Amino acid sequence: MIEIRTPAEVETMRAAGAFVASVVSATAAASKVGINLLTLDKLAGDMIRKAGATSCYVDYHPSFGASPFGRYICLSVNDAALHGLPHDYVLRDGDVVSLDFAASVNGWVADSAVTVIVGTPRPEDVALVDVTSRALDAGIAAACAGNRMGDVSAAIGAVAHAAGLSVNLDFGGHGVGRVMHGDPHVPNDGRAHRGLPLRPGLIFAIEPWFMLGTDKIYTDRDGWTLRSADGSRAAHFEHTIAITDGAPLVLTARK
Ligand code: MG
Repeated sequence: MIEIRTPAEVETMRAAGAFVASVVSATAAASKVGINLLTLDKLAGDMIRKAGATSCYVDYHPSFGASPFGRYICLSVNDAALHGLPHDYVLRDGDVVSLDFAASVNGWVADSAVTVIVGTPRPEDVALVDVTSRALDAGIAAACAGNRMGDVSAAIGAVAHAAGLSVNLDFGGHGVGRVMHGDPHVPNDGRAHRGLPLRPGLIFAIEPWFMLGTDKIYTDRDGWTLRSADGSRAAHFEHTIAITDGAPLVLTARK
């Protein structure tokens, strides 16, 4: 079911957005050569406890997950694209790390992701991160009242195609509200002028994720982490946004 939020509800969701942005900022800043993924996960968990927020991930157990997630943040390194389960791994020079975090504050959820390169970057990774970030910007720019969801999808896909990347459509953006995943679905490619009309009060996450060499993925033995089929590296950016009468409100904007 697609829900339209009142202006007062959108205002209330700002707290969740700001908190999620603060955790994404802190964990991304802490992602340095030599740090263990479990330390980054602990940082996210500590911030949740201190803020009195509620994790969306610890008990998360959807049909595609082997067991409850059990961690506070998704950390996807190099060929891991999405849903990276934090494990005992120390970041190395040149690693590409996607951090995806969602939490609930006062009963409202926000969801956001960023990709950082640790240490010395490879030029092709810099380009991938740049393209994926620009695809998020393009999707947000198209998320205006009067447009349709297909305009958002087409804007994201166009950035990928211009860079010679193909798009996996198995996972995309989603409605955000009282729970992390709801309607509508926000595909990362599609046809302009088609799909759901966008109207003020509609709140959803836009989350392009691209891989350098393929659009195929497989599930790691950990039952969660989704990796590129060919071992090529991946990037992922996400914001939770609200449709308004004017420009979209980016609830998870980082300071
Ligand atoms: Mg997310």
